[in-house]
Amino acid sequence: MELFFEPNDQIAWDSLISVKNKHDNNSKNKSFLASSTGKGIADIDSNVLCAAISGKNALTSYYYMLNTNKRWRYTTPRRDLPILSTQMPSSSVSRVLIIGAGPTGLLMGCLMRDQGMPVTIIEKREEITRTRCVKLLGEVLSSDELTGGIHLFSENQVEERQKAIDSIQSTLFEKLTSWLELCTPLQTIQKSLQEYFVSSGGQIAIGAQYDISKNLDLLGHYPDTLIIDCTGYHSVLRNRIQPDNLNLRLIEYVLICTFTFDERYECNELCKYYKNKNTRKFRVIPAIDDTYKTGKRQTLVTCLITIDEPIFRAMPKRDLITYSYLKNHQRDIYDDLTIFLNNMSSGQLNKIHFDSMEFIALPLQVYRAKKITHKVVNQNLNQHWVLLGDAAMGGPYFQSISMGYEAAIYLAYIVQQMQNDMEQMMMKYESYMEKLWLALQIRSKDIQRNKQILQYLCANDRNAILEKIKVY
Ligand SMILES: Cc1cc2nc3c(=O)[nH]c(=O)nc-3n(C[C@H](O)[C@H](O)[C@H](O)COP(=O)(O)OP(=O)(O)OC[C@H]3O[C@@H](n4cnc5c(N)ncnc54)[C@H](O)[C@@H]3O)c2cc1C
Repeated sequence: MELFFEPNDQIAWDSLISVKNKHDNNSKNKSFLASSTGKGIADIDSNVLCAAISGKNALTSYYYMLNTNKRWRYTTPRRDLPILSTQMPSSSVSRVLIIGAGPTGLLMGCLMRDQGMPVTIIEKREEITRTRCVKLLGEVLSSDELTGGIHLFSENQVEERQKAIDSIQSTLFEKLTSWLELCTPLQTIQKSLQEYFVSSGGQIAIGAQYDISKNLDLLGHYPDTLIIDCTGYHSVLRNRIQPDNLNLRLIEYVLICTFTFDERYECNELCKYYKNKNTRKFRVIPAIDDTYKTGKRQTLVTCLITIDEPIFRAMPKRDLITYSYLKNHQRDIYDDLTIFLNNMSSGQLNKIHFDSMEFIALPLQVYRAKKITHKVVNQNLNQHWVLLGDAAMGGPYFQSISMGYEAAIYLAYIVQQMQNDMEQMMMKYESYMEKLWLALQIRSKDIQRNKQILQYLCANDRNAILEKIKVY
């Protein structure tokens, strides 16, 4: 036995694998220490706390004398302690597997390929069919616009975030910049990222056989791998990391409706409510930006109409929903949509061409998985799992893709920096995502309040407006 005295607390509490538990009367001190480290600690007698860390060839035990405030440790060869002799798997990875080729998975793939990592993306859907238009928020490519002046992130995190943005390759950066400026169909974004990914040497495997939820064993073929779950709101790995993993959620049922308008269409937060003037029950909320198709002055508009759950449940499959279907089966929705379209086009309904209509359930709240990283403890596998994009968290008001991109840019950077220490990397990522979630929460509350004020304004409800306006 070797005996050392520790001059200061150098204990890697996060690596503790074993504690010896014995009843203690001195519970006040015990609970203080346990909470200050956040890890399990037990005593060997009423005055001493003990914990053990298993290293490669030895087991090191740490003791803490409560009444003298002294710590010491001793090391014994591992052969004396067979129960604790689990071999620590390596903490480095040699490749990346991304599950899900949605917007976040594809961007993550591109970023990792640009760092020279071998990357495979697997995707269950054969085709990209998303017609909706999205516009990225400025936050994605700037560390100045984080939370409207509220300092949630540490200086170190802001610095890392800026370095992460600076490390994006110029071609990819230009693509992202163009999606900040203009509302772009999601399909276009995904196709463009997919092309970039493949041309930079990334591998993509598409087809029903890659549906990981039906074939989790597939992951067994990927030792020494960082596995990034980008499978969206119904994440495949989330419940395996920690069952019942979502915080409270709230669903909004909506009819999403996209159409082209043969004129320039401009809108902002205020006028999108004004365009609902004279609607009776249903408000049609358009995306607040415009898109031009090349060559022709034409705008692609995406609108959401909130509906009640019973209407949603009673709806047929999406292929059947058309403007004339609404006319015959959902007259109230049809009438309010027509009023909105008239307001929007100044009566030029002939310039509106419907593209698609779909009833969907939207997660409305800022939801967040409580835990988003996981290490597979299996000697042969050495996998590190990370949730990203909607799988990790999401936000209302068209912010989710931006949030997913902010997270992907940061994650790609810290993976590159800490390729040999995935455990540290995952801790960093958890801490960063906690802040990102708070930022999203603050932003959403702001948007929600403004939205309500504008809705009351449209309804000319002065009392309600006054109640919502806060004087600081
Ligand atoms: C109507 C509507 C409008 C929206 N508008 C906006 C907007 O304007 N701005 C905005 O920022 N956000 C918007 N959002 C939200 C945005 O679409 C999502 O936040 C975004 O798509 C999330 O990207 P993701 O890559 O994390 O997940 P997803 O886009 O959900 O992609 C997940 C991918 O994983 C694949 N997958 C799933 N399960 C498996 C499996 N078991 N095995 C293999 N592959 C799997 C899926 O096929 C899919 O391709 C909108 C959402 C909706 C529904």
